[in-house]
Amino acid sequence: MITEDARALLATGGVCDSCLGRPFADRSFGLTNAERGRALRTTVALADDEDFDPTPPTDCWVCEGYCGTFDPIADAVVEALEGVDFATYQVGTQVPPLVEENDRLLREDAGLEPDVGESLKREVNREVGRRVGARTGAEVDFDRPDVLAVVDLEGFDPREALETGSVTGHAVDVQINPAFVYGRYRKLERDIPQTEWPCRECGGSGIQLGDDGEEPCDYCGGSGYMYDTSVEQTVRPHVVAAMDGDEGTFHGAGREDVDARMLEEGRPFVLEVKRPHERDPDPAELEAKINEAADGSVEVEGLRLATYEMVERVKEHDASKHYRADVEFSEPVDEKRFDEAIAELDGTTLAQETPQRVDHRRAALTRERTVYDLEGELRSSTEAEVRLHGEGGLYVKEFVSGDDGRTEPSLAGTLGVDAEVTALDVTGVEGEDEPFEREEYFLDEPRDGDDDSDDDGSDRN
Ligand SMILES: [Zn+2]
Ligand SMILES: [Zn+2]
Repeated sequence: MITEDARALLATGGVCDSCLGRPFADRSFGLTNAERGRALRTTVALADDEDFDPTPPTDCWVCEGYCGTFDPIADAVVEALEGVDFATYQVGTQVPPLVEENDRLLREDAGLEPDVGESLKREVNREVGRRVGARTGAEVDFDRPDVLAVVDLEGFDPREALETGSVTGHAVDVQINPAFVYGRYRKLERDIPQTEWPCRECGGSGIQLGDDGEEPCDYCGGSGYMYDTSVEQTVRPHVVAAMDGDEGTFHGAGREDVDARMLEEGRPFVLEVKRPHERDPDPAELEAKINEAADGSVEVEGLRLATYEMVERVKEHDASKHYRADVEFSEPVDEKRFDEAIAELDGTTLAQETPQRVDHRRAALTRERTVYDLEGELRSSTEAEVRLHGEGGLYVKEFVSGDDGRTEPSLAGTLGVDAEVTALDVTGVEGEDEPFEREEYFLDEPRDGDDDSDDDGSDRN
């Protein structure tokens, strides 16, 4: 049967060993298609007592020579990956439509199913991939490789490649997937936004049009930004440089108000680096560099190399927040009344309408948010310090002020005096069900003294 099929395939014209073997690719695991083809050709020659006369790829009407070019393609891929740091890779191939058509016609002319065995595309991917792996020591990864080499067969002439032993460079396009660094940041000064914030007047150009033409924007002083710096601008350049990448994107686990500090254990973030040529920087060194340059306004801690899943983790993971707030009252409050109000509100569930200060275009929505824990202390008859642990999404400024009745209950409402947050610090961001930091999201080993963050997180839940 199989000999009959092989004979029919050979009758279509000059066919190379790979193209002859490819329709039988699902037989005898462990052979290459070329080995299958060679064996079938031998069998047919012996059975028919004919001279053994193999067809080299260059004379093959099906692949037009491509099946002889796996080595030069692999050379070109390895060359294109020169200077790129990667542990996993994948090879993808674009096959010219006419050659794909030949592969179908071969089977049809021989009376076989049009898609029996393996496609040329898969054969090139596998054969080139195997060679790239052997030469670089990297592992193949079909899911999320560090690098993807796309081979466009139309980008070179196979017969020329067979003669010269090399393919032209533009036949191979290398895509480098992003790399990720996780950490937690503290913001020790107020009026620093989390991400860079272009000037609302000039749109970030730093330029306005005056009577005499272009001049520096009055609003931002020509910097193009609303604030001098941001957490993102403090962290990003160092990570991008350490990974020798093109650009970076900052992903935070939520964000605090610009005028709030972020203290204590800090807030989880991931810095995503596009087109990194280095994937394995020393996180401790990187951390030291960022902190030294930030000079006390921002600090990062617990930096680790992370998987791409960590981005979704920091963005989607449900987290509760710890706050510390300075509160001012419009008239004196006595201690007993204050303590009673705190006790009454501890553990309560708030109904909060979207605050007035939040984007007016956002539809008003009433949400329920729980105050897990509340403590307070009067500093004077009109000032207090309040510490609150609340469900994610709770608006703490509005919990204190009542926001003209949009938050119920509130500290102001319970006390019967106007109350306002004059200074706010976020003192913790922690996962509701489990900590943000789980080993499966990291690519490196934990550093000494690094793993206590996991314990802290789970203890408090
Ligand atoms: Zn061929
Ligand atoms: Zn401006």
